[in-house]
Amino acid sequence: MSGRADLHIHSTFSDGALSPEAILTLARSRDINAISITDHDHTGAISQAMELGRAMDIEVIPGIELSVMEQGWEVHLLGYFIDPSHDELQHFLARIRSDRVKRAERIVQKLNALNLPLRTENVLERAGAAAVGRPHIADALVNDGHVGSYAEAFVRYLTPGKPAYVEKTAVSPRDAIRIVAEAGGLTFIAHPGAALDSEVLLGLIHEGVDGIEVVHPSHTPALVRYYRDLVAHYFLLGSGGSDFHGGRRNDLDALGKYTIPYTALSTMRGALH
Ligand code: AMP
Ligand code: ZN
Ligand code: FE
Ligand code: FE
Repeated sequence: MSGRADLHIHSTFSDGALSPEAILTLARSRDINAISITDHDHTGAISQAMELGRAMDIEVIPGIELSVMEQGWEVHLLGYFIDPSHDELQHFLARIRSDRVKRAERIVQKLNALNLPLRTENVLERAGAAAVGRPHIADALVNDGHVGSYAEAFVRYLTPGKPAYVEKTAVSPRDAIRIVAEAGGLTFIAHPGAALDSEVLLGLIHEGVDGIEVVHPSHTPALVRYYRDLVAHYFLLGSGGSDFHGGRRNDLDALGKYTIPYTALSTMRGALH
């Protein structure tokens, strides 16, 4: 079958602005044949999305985006074809999400110490079912008038080196890759073009990732070619998508602009353990 796939999408189960249903409707209108919703540390969108996908004739690949630490750098990994009901995977995700709640509390404390009267309950309420993160804190800061924009919240307070930054609990690539594999899935390095040096990239390949995200909005055409060659050189798989956040990053037009051929999915399926 011809057609195209967008394998990197965030929903309201992490920091995306759209529900699974709204994402599928939009994907339909933009002639996308297969999607993966890859929420941060959360599989909550998957069963609903798969069911809607069957009704709307869009293939939905179960996915996840995980943050790991490699050589002191935070790197994102994408897992595809996971079984969302896998026990160990769910325990792992539950632990990460509860660490995120503790981290949100520490970030709020730091902001309070800077005389920004923010409340953790407020931030958690904003996150709703989602894994709570800096985006929800940034939104709360904007909403309360402490910063003029979402980006400013990050630049002034929430990024490394800034006064309210708190690291996430470090997950090793090895653990993430193993758990994704045990849940039946394949692991890809997400958006390597966004500040990944080659030592880190090679380290992750050595740890056993199955592939690399080749197509991503942050990748120039030259980088896309570079990662495509790297994939071929190391006999890896290639993936790609829009990293769509449903408009939260002014990215409403991105869905449908960053796709890979539908046939890439059969290649991936052929590599499933
Ligand atoms: P967290 O998982 O809580 O560390 O939050 C990470 C998310 O925050 C990323 O996926 C982005 O959506 C967002 N983010 C990180 N850095 C920035 C930045 N400098 N500007 C805007 N958004 C950012
Ligand atoms: Zn995100
Ligand atoms: Fe990411
Ligand atoms: Fe993402």
